[in-house]
Amino acid sequence: MMQKIILSTNNEKKLSEIETLLHDLPIQTIAQSKLNIGQAEEPFGTFIENALTKARFASKASNLPAIADDSGLCVDVLNGKPGILSARFSGEGGNDKKNNIKLLELLKNEKNRRAHYYCAIVFITSCDDPQPIIAEGIWQGEILSSPRGKNGFGYDPIFMDFKTDLSAAELDFNLKNKISHRGQALQKLKHKLRILYDK
Ligand code: IMP
Repeated sequence: MMQKIILSTNNEKKLSEIETLLHDLPIQTIAQSKLNIGQAEEPFGTFIENALTKARFASKASNLPAIADDSGLCVDVLNGKPGILSARFSGEGGNDKKNNIKLLELLKNEKNRRAHYYCAIVFITSCDDPQPIIAEGIWQGEILSSPRGKNGFGYDPIFMDFKTDLSAAELDFNLKNKISHRGQALQKLKHKLRILYDK
């Protein structure tokens, strides 16, 4: 029997990345927006705590097992910022474009442009699961001086992947999924879920 699992994100791009990567497991993923579940607060200082909070919120509201991710871009010379604030970097009313402009401005005269994307993914069987499954992924790169490419979302047009020398927004969907922070975390999560569900 297919196990229903709630996916705790309303970001369409993230949803399709996660659904694509998990499609061959014997599970049926349901986006929380489909069940009219709102957004959880993300009050904590670490990605892992926020991912766990989002998963618990979705699991409690749906009475189903849940998967949640929390991710962001961490820039070396900014001591890991925007980090957990990645989505809200340019403040209230901000968006991806404003976030990118703010970051480019901050790094205007900076030579060291090293950065990485980080992703924590959490799976829980219920909101009081004492044994969450946690997987992480890191994607190393550099911040470009101006945007390139049209794919992806968020900081992708200004994040250059070290291995291909392409911006994350120049990579096609499948290649990004393979090498990205979320792709890596999901591969690890999948391995652990197989042990649970693929008996
Ligand atoms: P979250 O939805 O709270 O996890 O926030 C994630 C934020 O980090 C997004 O809104 C983006 O700004 C950034 N981010 C995370 N993953 C990616 C990615 O794969 N590409 C571009 N930006 C990302």
